[in-house]
Amino acid sequence: MTAQDLVQRHRAAFPRWVGTYYPDPIALRTAEGRHVTDHDGRRYLDFFGGILTTSVGYAIPEIRDAVAAQLATGIVHTSTLYLIEPQIALAERLRAIAGVPDPVAFFVNSGSEANETALLAAACRSGSNHVVALADSYHGRTFATSSVSTLAGWRPSPFGPFRVTVAANGRADGDGPAPSVEECAADLQRRLDADRAPVAALIVEPVQGLAGFHGLPPGLLHAYREVVAARGGVLICDEVQTGWGRTGRDWWGYQAHGVTPDAITFAKGLGNGLAIGGVVGTRELLDSIDGRTISTFGGNPLAATAALATVDYLLDHDLRRCARDRGDQLVEGLRRHGGHPAVGAVRGYGLMVAVDVVNPATGAPDPAGAQRVLTAARDHGLLVGLGGRSGSTLRLAPPMTVTAGEVDTALDCLDSALHAAAPVPAGI
Ligand code: PMP
Repeated sequence: MTAQDLVQRHRAAFPRWVGTYYPDPIALRTAEGRHVTDHDGRRYLDFFGGILTTSVGYAIPEIRDAVAAQLATGIVHTSTLYLIEPQIALAERLRAIAGVPDPVAFFVNSGSEANETALLAAACRSGSNHVVALADSYHGRTFATSSVSTLAGWRPSPFGPFRVTVAANGRADGDGPAPSVEECAADLQRRLDADRAPVAALIVEPVQGLAGFHGLPPGLLHAYREVVAARGGVLICDEVQTGWGRTGRDWWGYQAHGVTPDAITFAKGLGNGLAIGGVVGTRELLDSIDGRTISTFGGNPLAATAALATVDYLLDHDLRRCARDRGDQLVEGLRRHGGHPAVGAVRGYGLMVAVDVVNPATGAPDPAGAQRVLTAARDHGLLVGLGGRSGSTLRLAPPMTVTAGEVDTALDCLDSALHAAAPVPAGI
């Protein structure tokens, strides 16, 4: 079976919006540590981890062995009608590190479902379906979560169960200057005053992920929280990308902002690749869900075991420190190489590192150039991701066990890719 055959079967079997990277997509067959091998036996350093999901690395013995031991019991699934010991232990770990008062947890299978759960609780609690979401946000693919996602192109339907007020994220919208925190907060206040309906929730990614790894300006989250709390709304921090030490400072992205959320939602990195997500929030908020609800698969024994082993590994090896140190190394290296005229801004929040690709002649965002660099990086042995308002941002987010030597190798690959994909024009 060649890759070309697979591409044809893929196109025949899936709707057109199931996209893949690269003009000639690859299938990954084996992996170890931070390396993956494709259908042709080519080996790559993986600096995207299946969208920040392989958080610790591939074939990590502690996690693999825990999953294998669970499989060996014969119990993969029981449903939540029965007590699931690893799920209870996982909830206990979460309660200890969430930083939310009187926390309780609930497990689902994805980030979208995690946000659905938090939004549902907020709507039940407030009796309102009015949600404040930030510009350029992404919170999931479901009907409710896509309705609070504002990043261009990621809200397929104009319909949705929520009425959404979009608040500025503190970034400039065009060529003009970025608004100040005071201006952003006053604008939100004005619009909520004009509206008068109670607010169910403010939902926020502490570092906007799909938007191209943009942090929020200091003070913005705090200011918005005050405005929304005065209208009765809770704060939901979507930590689907930023959780588990990824930002290199704390366990959660919200902790950089001096706020205490009412709920944290998470998924991606928790299971190091097995499907698990969830919400940890105040008992008052989550108990607001009035009526019966269940997630058949959520936190099943296999996924919960993987998650527990992953969290233990993250804590035992203090991987947030690694995320900070390796992230700093990556950003410094990129800035050193940053003489390349196709490199615009370089940003880093631990191991969420972004490189904006620009047109060397005009300095404008260059999505086609970013696609070329993405493919050239692969051809030089490095997998990275894309994002940004116009798809012109390279996203680097390796497993948090990445070594200093691997970061150096990735920097060399990216340098070669930039020179191959965006030759420096004469005179620049
Ligand atoms: N929230 C954020 C911040 C995300 O990045 C994503 C996924 N990219 C989601 C929610 C949705 O997660 P999932 O794809 O697991 O439903």
